Amino acid sequence: MSPLIGPRRACLSLRFLSLRFLSLLFLSLIAVARPGAAQVADTIYTGGDVLTMRGTAAEYAESLAVKGGTILFVGSSADVKKHAGSTTKTIDLAGKTLLPGFIDTHGHMVYFGKNLIDANLFGTADIPDLVRRMKKQAERTPAEGWIVGFGYQARAMKEGRPPTVEELDTISADRSVMIVDSSGHLGAGNSAVFARAGITADTPDPKGGTFARKADGRSLLGPMEETALNAVRSQRPPFTGKLADEAITGAANVWASHGHTTAQEAGLGLGNDDIGIVVNAIDKRLMPIDLYVAAKDSAVDDTITAAYTVASQYNPKPNGTREKLLADRPDLDKRYINRVRLGGIKFWLDGSVDTAWFTQPYTTNPSGKTGVYSGYRQIPDEVLDAAFDRFWPTNMQIHMHMNGDAAADQALAAIAKAVKKHGMRDHRPVFVHASWLRPDQIEKMKTYGAVPSFLPSGIVPGGDAVVRLWGPERSSGAMAARTFLRAGLPFTFSHDAPVSPIPSVLALVDAGVNRRTASGAVVGPDERISPYDALRAVTATAAYQIKEEQTKGTLEAGKLADLVILEKNPLKVDPLTIKDIQVVETIKEGRTVYKR
Ligand SMILES: [Zn+2]
Repeated sequence: MSPLIGPRRACLSLRFLSLRFLSLLFLSLIAVARPGAAQVADTIYTGGDVLTMRGTAAEYAESLAVKGGTILFVGSSADVKKHAGSTTKTIDLAGKTLLPGFIDTHGHMVYFGKNLIDANLFGTADIPDLVRRMKKQAERTPAEGWIVGFGYQARAMKEGRPPTVEELDTISADRSVMIVDSSGHLGAGNSAVFARAGITADTPDPKGGTFARKADGRSLLGPMEETALNAVRSQRPPFTGKLADEAITGAANVWASHGHTTAQEAGLGLGNDDIGIVVNAIDKRLMPIDLYVAAKDSAVDDTITAAYTVASQYNPKPNGTREKLLADRPDLDKRYINRVRLGGIKFWLDGSVDTAWFTQPYTTNPSGKTGVYSGYRQIPDEVLDAAFDRFWPTNMQIHMHMNGDAAADQALAAIAKAVKKHGMRDHRPVFVHASWLRPDQIEKMKTYGAVPSFLPSGIVPGGDAVVRLWGPERSSGAMAARTFLRAGLPFTFSHDAPVSPIPSVLALVDAGVNRRTASGAVVGPDERISPYDALRAVTATAAYQIKEEQTKGTLEAGKLADLVILEKNPLKVDPLTIKDIQVVETIKEGRTVYKR
């Protein structure tokens, strides 16, 4: 506006303005100039450590103000008073610590929820103990349902092996019985479950998995690995109605109780009812916290015989998991709908401690493996390449489960081909676990912007076995957090629950800091990191991994008021006690979703 016209216009306008309007204008001008109605906080937190998690060193504020689900202010106690109004609730932290809400970068919340309904087999001492727990489960399972248990560890049981068909038949001779170990990669079934799935000793093993057979090869032994287990698991009758509600809300509440404001299901479609459970949660608005979903790339809803499940799994045909979700919710992959977002797609390239795929043989073979054994691949190169061809140009983030370096080689080769064909973009492929990486692989990950999500808590229960099976070099260099830190590369920590029996973020932070096994040995002392860096791996960098760093991961004005209050500050306790710190309260967008 020209200064010559300005005053004249203002003068003209004044004639038409009523006194009342002028006074309103005056009041609103004051509101802009000073913190008025728009700036009054709903809640102010003060009186404890406010750890912002910004930057590479700990930064504290005295107070934090929240309004309408977002952070209004972070700063001094003197300045926060500007945001206090008659409606503001002031919460005295009383020496407790306020942090950004924890972000799950690799967990299986839906799967965990279903396990809450199944028998808990964690800490099973021996096969009679397992049978006893499963018989109790049979009593509470409706006649038409499968009797399922989860969480045993064969090598930790007295017999050092999983149970046989005959042993599982003692739980029920005519009802389907299936058990899955704590890794989720190995399991066993009784006669009825194999009959139901149409699997006999003559059924060929699917690619990337095996059905164990007795020495004569003429009957099934009971145990099954990887894709063979998936073939049976996918035939389980679906969770619907109240059971579906209970599974997801039960799990979400457990996640919230461990300080998460964002959960993850990194393999939706592992069960044939997963999609239904999540869509049900969306429809009924059941989620108290955000859920990032990475869909398993398989047409799991196809009712095919077990022998063909894997073929379908490897067939990225239309009408698979992603298409189904997108058909139901066309905008699901762009933003959260009722707290659920489809963010990515998930592949399994190898197995777990016993079945990781390496370029060099195991130092000690796992039980049942003879000769030169290096683990094995789960998916042919051409299948992975085709998937990259399809998803690399999209907004779907690609997650790849890998433990061994041969699996990492496969991932890097697939990325290289996709980059050559489609170019580079801000894709942030996730290397899930990435337990053993060679230096040349870390260099390539840097080029492609790949983010590893390490599972340091795997060291605690499984570390002694890792040292024995993988040998000293691969175990001490496993989950190379400090190497990544030194190189200035992003990495995150994840619990992979229910692989870790509970989704405890503080146990994870503790494990990354201390790297102690169950026997007390320190595995790879050079890869230990500071409590602050470990906390970054579950907050700021975790937000970066899921591409939500604009709204989550640090305490800054304008970000979501996703918060956790801890009884003690993890940076100020004996590092060996970080796992024992209690989560006092979890707040999702300003609303308390868990309180101790
Ligand atoms: Zn996982």
